[in-house]
Amino acid sequence: MDKYIESIYKSLVEKDPLQKEFHQAAYEVLATIEPAIKKFPKYQENAILERIVEPERIIQFRVPWKDKNGKIQINRGYRVQYNSAIGPYKGGFRFHPTVNLGVMKFLGFEQTFKNSLTTLPMGGSKGGSDFDPKGKTDAEVEAFCTSFMSEIYRHVGQFVDVPAGDIGVGGREIGYLYGAYRKITNMHGTCVLTGKGLTFGGSLARTEATGYGAVYFSEEMMKTKKESLKGKVAVVSGSGNVAQYAVQKLIQLGAKPVTMSDSDGYIYDPAGIDEKKLAFILELKNVKRGRISEYAEKFKGVTYEAKKTPWGVKGDLAYPCATQNELNDKDAKKLIDNGCKAVTEGANMPCTLEAIKVLQDGGVLYAPGKASNAGGVATSGLEMVQNSQRYFWSFEEVDQKLHGIMINIHKNAYDTAKLFGKPGDYVMGANIAGFLKVADAMIAQGVYA
Ligand code: NDP
Repeated sequence: MDKYIESIYKSLVEKDPLQKEFHQAAYEVLATIEPAIKKFPKYQENAILERIVEPERIIQFRVPWKDKNGKIQINRGYRVQYNSAIGPYKGGFRFHPTVNLGVMKFLGFEQTFKNSLTTLPMGGSKGGSDFDPKGKTDAEVEAFCTSFMSEIYRHVGQFVDVPAGDIGVGGREIGYLYGAYRKITNMHGTCVLTGKGLTFGGSLARTEATGYGAVYFSEEMMKTKKESLKGKVAVVSGSGNVAQYAVQKLIQLGAKPVTMSDSDGYIYDPAGIDEKKLAFILELKNVKRGRISEYAEKFKGVTYEAKKTPWGVKGDLAYPCATQNELNDKDAKKLIDNGCKAVTEGANMPCTLEAIKVLQDGGVLYAPGKASNAGGVATSGLEMVQNSQRYFWSFEEVDQKLHGIMINIHKNAYDTAKLFGKPGDYVMGANIAGFLKVADAMIAQGVYA
């Protein structure tokens, strides 16, 4: 790493030594954009790196709520409004016990580059809470969401910041959050949240978008090697929103997904997860809120491995779709030994820095999440467009636009990597392409913007 860039990395570590996930995300970007910083002196002259690593605003707040026994519980709420140079802040809410400021900063930082890549005018932010919706009643989740919104409503809005879902925040939570927003403000601020239900301004295909988008991206990567997804065995982690629809699109495109997981373990179905079995998972996860192990009890020939990730299973393609740092260098080696050709991140930062190095050195096509999972936020952007028009598009229209956006993101990352001398390096390509647009907008708007 160049000395100037290294000094920026060192300084952010010194300022916030405990924010490990943020350091990791920042390192990945800083380590790969050096050629752009060297080629265009204006970025260093305008202190763009120093400014871009620092969030524009951080909001932290108390979220008190009453549980089913009438006991008062306190959680911590966050919103990190990272960068609004190219548009209003945009990024999801995550409700998970692992949420802290470092995690929020890593996600908001990533989101800034990802949103830039979509080509839509969206800045980057992220928020959430250490609240765990798992095991809570609907009434408890509603109480929490109502309290959370009673603070955050004053910091969001269609021209300011437009949140969406993430881990632990699905259709149910977005519904409660939106209901609370409408009640507090006496407004149908349809653009204030995305991922809404279809009866109150949601977009068709938003639920499917992140998973579908990741598979579209991997299809484009395979095309560069004159290969398709047809007949390929896919190892998928997670069983939430992203994993569910990655699996559905894989099935539709003729691949064979054989694994899914949750935080307790993974299932391996050598016969392949088909539409019927996937319908069971959707009901299990989205309605009954059960565990993935129940899949192995339901279907014959399926094995369940508790407390393990699926990366030792043989497959041509891998899709980590659960959470950050779920695939390490040892896992990456196992995938390579088993003949894996492409790893496409559905989750945010699921591969460790060491794993990425092993994959890239091993000649595996590797798609970083900020490019390959950008279909979710891109379709959130399309939901905002439809809301602004007071109109809606058909599923096919939205899916077609999503597909086009993913093809463009792939092309942009691919071409940029080539231009900067590292063909096939999607990490460098995505980071530089995402950076240039935000950096140029920051310079154009002056130091104080
Ligand atoms: P969900 O909450 O719907 O699903 C998350 C899945 O990951 C669940 O299967 C969950 O298992 C598992 N998981 C969560 N934490 C852990 C952990 N610490 N260890 C192992 N497994 C874990 O979330 P999404 O599917 O929406 O999000 C998944 C990933 O995709 C996240 O990284 C998110 O940031 C990213 N993403 C999501 C987008 C979206 O549109 N939803 C857009 C872009 C990125 P369990 O049920 O046991 O907790």
